[in-house]
Amino acid sequence: MHEIAQKFTREEIIPVAAEYDRNGNYPWDIVKKAWALGLINHHIPQSCGGLEFGIFDGCVVSEAIAYGCTGIKTALEASGLAQTPVILAGNKEQQKKYLGRLIEEPLVAAYCVTEPGAGSDVAGIKTKAVKKGKEWIINGTKMWITNGGVANWYFVLTRTNSDPKVPASKAFTAFIIDRDSDGLTPGRKEINMGQRASDTRMVTFEDVRVPEENVLLKEGAGFKIAMGTFDKTRPAVACGAVGLAQRALDEATKYALERKTFNKPIADHQAVAFLLADMAIGIETARLAWMKSAWAIDNNDPSGSMLASIAKCYGADVANKCATNAVQIFGGAGFNTEYPVEKLMRDAKIYQIYEGTAQIQRLIISRHLFAKAKHGGS
Ligand SMILES: Cc1cc2nc3c(=O)[nH]c(=O)nc-3n(C[C@H](O)[C@H](O)[C@H](O)COP(=O)(O)OP(=O)(O)OC[C@H]3O[C@@H](n4cnc5c(N)ncnc54)[C@H](O)[C@@H]3O)c2cc1C
Repeated sequence: MHEIAQKFTREEIIPVAAEYDRNGNYPWDIVKKAWALGLINHHIPQSCGGLEFGIFDGCVVSEAIAYGCTGIKTALEASGLAQTPVILAGNKEQQKKYLGRLIEEPLVAAYCVTEPGAGSDVAGIKTKAVKKGKEWIINGTKMWITNGGVANWYFVLTRTNSDPKVPASKAFTAFIIDRDSDGLTPGRKEINMGQRASDTRMVTFEDVRVPEENVLLKEGAGFKIAMGTFDKTRPAVACGAVGLAQRALDEATKYALERKTFNKPIADHQAVAFLLADMAIGIETARLAWMKSAWAIDNNDPSGSMLASIAKCYGADVANKCATNAVQIFGGAGFNTEYPVEKLMRDAKIYQIYEGTAQIQRLIISRHLFAKAKHGGS
C-alpha cells in the first residue's frame, strides 16, 4: 500500500497540488481516485467492508500522500477523523449504516467539535441537544470544520447537561447527523493561509432533529469519545507534518545542488549544508516519534496518548522549521509562488494549531508526566 500511495502522490497529487492551492476547489477527483484504490477509509472495520488498518499502516499511507500536498491530505484525513468515534463507540447498526456508506460510495464525513467560542477548551462548547420523545433537538454553531461543506454526515459533540457542576465526562453527548437533516447549514468556505484544497467551514444547527439511534454509545459519553478519538488520530496528523518536512528537504536539497553563488553550488557553503543536515535530523526523529506513538496505540500501550501528543507537537515544529529553512535556501525564489516551497511554509503552520495546538500538546504531555510522578512512576 505504501508503494501505491507513493505512486498515487507522484502521478495524481503533485502535478495538480499548486492548482488546487490557487483555486481552493475541493479535490473531488482525487478523493474519488483515492477511494477506488483504498487509500482512504482504510481504518473502517472489515465487517463494514473496510481494510481495518491499524494506526501505523494508515500513517504510512498518509505520510506518502502528505508529501504531495497536505491540503489534499487533510481533505482525505478529516473523513478518517469523523469515522474514528464511530469505529470506537458506534454500535453495529451505526457502523454498517455510516461507515458502510463510505465504502459503497466516494463520500466523506466531518468531525464537528470546535465552536466560535471554544477550541482548545473543548468543555466550553455550547451546542445544545435536548431530548424530546424519541428524538434529540440540536441547536448551536460549529467552527473551522474540515469537510464542513462536502460531508455526507457529521460527528457532532453537544452539551446535554447544562449544570456547570456536572463533570465533562458526563455533560456531553455525541451524535451522528446526516447532511440532509433540516436545519443543518454549512457556511461559506473559509479562505485560509494554507492547505487551501481543504474545505473549512462554519456549520450551524437550528432545531435539527436527530433520532435516538444516532446517539453514540449513550447520553453523557460524548466527551470521552471525542477525546479518545484524538489519541487515535494524532499520529496521522504527525505523519502528515513529516511528509511535508520531507518534501521541504528534498526540494531544498535539489535546489542547493543546482543554484550557484560565488562560483559554487550553495550546497558547498557549509551554512546551507548544515541547514539541510538539521532538517534531516528533525525529519528522521519526527518520523520515529509518529512510528513509536502509532505502534504504542496499535498495541494498547498506555503510553500511547502521551506519545501521540509528543509526535504531533514535535512533527508540527519540525515541519515549520523545515519549511521555513527551505524558503531560506531558495532565497528570493523561496518567497515566490512559481516555486514549491512558499506553499509548504503556508501549509505547515496549521500543524501547530489543529487537533490540539502546540500549547495544548505540551499541556497533555506535562499532565502525563505529573500523573506518572504522583503514582510513583519513573
Ligand atoms: C484549518 C482548520 C481546520 C480545522 N478542522 C477542524 C475540524 O475538522 N473539526 C474541529 O472540531 N475543529 C477543527 N479545527 C479547529 C481547531 O482544532 C482549533 O482551531 C484549535 O483546537 C484551537 O482552538 P481555537 O482556534 O479556538 O484557539 P483557542 O483555544 O482560542 O487558543 C488560542 C491560543 O491560546 C492558546 N491556549 C489556549 N488555551 C491554553 C492553555 N490552557 N495553555 C496555554 N495556551 C493556551 C492556544 O494554544 C492558542 O495559541 C480546525 C481549525 C483550522 C484552522
